[in-house]
Amino acid sequence: MIVQLDNEAVAREYVHVVYETVVKRNPYEYEFHQAVKEILESLIPVLSKHPKYMKFGVLERIVEPERLITFRVPWVDDQGITHVNRGFRVQFNSAIGPYKGGLRFHPSVNASIIKFLGFEQTFKNSLTGQPIGGGKGGSDFDPKGKSDNEIMRFTQSFMTELYKYMGQDTDVPAGDIGVGAREIGYMFGQYKRIRGAYEAGVLTGKGIIYGGSLGRTEATGYGCVYFVNEMLQSKGLSFEGSTVVVSGSGNVAIYSMQKAIQLGAKVVACSDSNGYIYDKNGICLDTIRRLKEVERERISEYVKEHPTATYHEGCNGIWSIPCEIALPSATQNEIDEDAARILVSNGVIAVGEGANMPSTLEAIDVFLKAGVLFGPAKAANAGGVAVSALEMSQNSMRYSWQFHEVDDKLHAIMKNIYKSAVQAAEEYGHPGNLVVGANIAGFTKVADAMIAQGVV
Ligand code: GLU
Repeated sequence: MIVQLDNEAVAREYVHVVYETVVKRNPYEYEFHQAVKEILESLIPVLSKHPKYMKFGVLERIVEPERLITFRVPWVDDQGITHVNRGFRVQFNSAIGPYKGGLRFHPSVNASIIKFLGFEQTFKNSLTGQPIGGGKGGSDFDPKGKSDNEIMRFTQSFMTELYKYMGQDTDVPAGDIGVGAREIGYMFGQYKRIRGAYEAGVLTGKGIIYGGSLGRTEATGYGCVYFVNEMLQSKGLSFEGSTVVVSGSGNVAIYSMQKAIQLGAKVVACSDSNGYIYDKNGICLDTIRRLKEVERERISEYVKEHPTATYHEGCNGIWSIPCEIALPSATQNEIDEDAARILVSNGVIAVGEGANMPSTLEAIDVFLKAGVLFGPAKAANAGGVAVSALEMSQNSMRYSWQFHEVDDKLHAIMKNIYKSAVQAAEEYGHPGNLVVGANIAGFTKVADAMIAQGVV
C-alpha cells in the first residue's frame, strides 16, 4: 500500500514536470497545453502501476513532435493580387505507423492548433487499432468566399511544398475543417504531377473514381453516432425518440445527423460559424446538405425555405436548446463550462464529441460530475481516420470494398474503441470515465511501441 502511494506521488510529480516543460518550451500555445494537460493527468494511474514509462522517458518524448514543418504558401487571387499564407505539417509520432491525420484550412490555424490536433491524433489513431501514427497539418488560409480557381491555385501551391514530406509509407494527409473532396482532389492531382507516379495511398478522402473508399465521407459522423449508441445501450437507452442537437454543418455534422435520424432521433438544431438554426419539429437534412455540400451557402438561408425554423446569430446559444443528446461537431472549445451547465440543467443524457476537443477541460468536468455519458473526441470521432486507414489498405491491395463492408468494419472498430476505453477506465480505477479510459488505451500501445524501438 505504502509503495503504491509512493509510486503515485512520483508519477504525479513526473507529470507535473513534463507539463511545466511543455508550457515553458511552447509559450502561448494554449490549445496545445490544454490537450497535453488532459492526457497527462489521466495517465497518472498507468505511470504509478508501470514505472517503466517513467524509466524510459516516454512522456518527455511523446509530448515533443518528431518534426514540425512550416512553410510559405504564395498564391495569386482572381484579381491578380499576391497573397502569402503559412503552411504547417506536424509529424507527431510514428511509433505504430506512418504519420496520419488531416489538413485544416482555417484562419485560426497556427502552430498551437496544429500541435494540439497532432498530439490528439496520435492517441486517436492508436485507439482505432489500425497501424497509423499521428500527424496533422494545414494553413491559415480562409476558403470562405474564394472561387474554385483560387482554391485550386492555393492548394496546388500548398502541395508544391508539402509533397516533399509525404509518402504512402511516410506521411498520409487527409481532410479536416475547410478541406474536403474538392481540395483533396486538387492536392492529389498536384502531388501526382510533381512525383510522376500514381501513388494512391498518399492521401485519403479521395473521390471514389480515383482511389477513394466508399463510406469515408460518412465515417466520422456515422462512427460518432455508433459510439454514442454503445454508451446509450450500456444504460438500456437508444437514439429512438430522442432529441438531438448537433453543432456544425460540415462533413462530421451532416453524417452524424443522417445516422441519428436513421436510428429514430429528431435532430432539432445545427449551425455554421455565423449562427444556428432551430426547428422543434426536426430539421430537414436534405436542405442542409444542398445548402452546404452543393451551394456552399450560409445556414441562415435555411429558414427561407422552412418558415417554422428560426435562425439565431452567434453559435454559443445552440447549447441552450433542450436535448437528450448533444453532438458538438464544429470546432475546438465550443462548449465552455457555462454551456455545459446549461446542457446538464436541460437534462442532457449523452454527449459525443464529433469535433476535436470541442469541450473545455472545465466543461468535461461538469459533464463527468453530473454523470452524463461522455464520449471524448479521440474515441468518438475516430471513425473518420479509421476508414482512412481502410482506404490505405484498399489502395495497397488495389482493390475496393463495398459500402456495407466498410460500414461493417467501421461499426466493429467503434464498438472495439468503446470496449477498450471502458476496460482501461475500469482497470485503472475510474469506472465509466471514458476520458481516462480512451487516453490510457490510446497511450499504452504507442508507449509500448516506443519502448520496444529504443530511444529514437
Ligand atoms: N481530420 C480527421 C481527424 O481529425 C481525419 C483524419 C484522417 O482521415 O486522416 O481525425
